Amino acid sequence: MNNRNFTAICAALLMCAFLIVFYVSPKIAKSTVAFADHTSKKVVYLTFDDGPSDRVTPRILDILKEEQVKATFFIVGKNAETRKYLVKREIDEGHSVGVHSYSHIYKEIYSSAESLLKDIDKCNEVIKEVSGKRTSLYRFPGGSYGLSTSLIDAVTEHGMKYFDWNASTRDAELFQATPDQLYKAAVSTQKDDENIILLSHDTTNKTATIDALKLIISHYKALGYAFSAL
Ligand SMILES: [Zn+2]
Repeated sequence: MNNRNFTAICAALLMCAFLIVFYVSPKIAKSTVAFADHTSKKVVYLTFDDGPSDRVTPRILDILKEEQVKATFFIVGKNAETRKYLVKREIDEGHSVGVHSYSHIYKEIYSSAESLLKDIDKCNEVIKEVSGKRTSLYRFPGGSYGLSTSLIDAVTEHGMKYFDWNASTRDAELFQATPDQLYKAAVSTQKDDENIILLSHDTTNKTATIDALKLIISHYKALGYAFSAL
């Protein structure tokens, strides 16, 4: 091999290296990023307690459908009993339906483990009438915070899996709040960056929650979160 050929081969090799570094590598890096985005661990679990209601639940369902987002409804059996069509719609549209309570009367349900389990079963019967099966999804009225371990143990031993929340629109406490206030509360009460379980309510007077929901969904979509039902 003469010098000229050697130089030509070296130049060709350098060109190949150049092409690999400047054209191929960025593509690999790009697809890795896309893959990482696709398998993002950041998830928001939107949860709605105390419904269903004729005034608010259908509008929440409309937004979820429009935004292609799944959520979880922790229902109150006495509200659902006369609105099974709404529970059916929640299930048909791919959302999860969990037990919240039948009566939602704290004094009764928390008087003993026996009353609590009876209340759970009564609510679960309503769910079974609609879906054909009971659920193990459960949210304690008021959350599990501060409840005795004997009550919590009774519920888990009964086969229920309970979920509290780590963010809240505070729509149960803020009197006559605007959608913007509820949205800001949701974002500022967030205590986890990867798995957000957001508490809201779909009872009849929670109309501000409907518009807050749009703001909340856009906010977390922009941050790359996925939405999932529990
Ligand atoms: Zn509740």
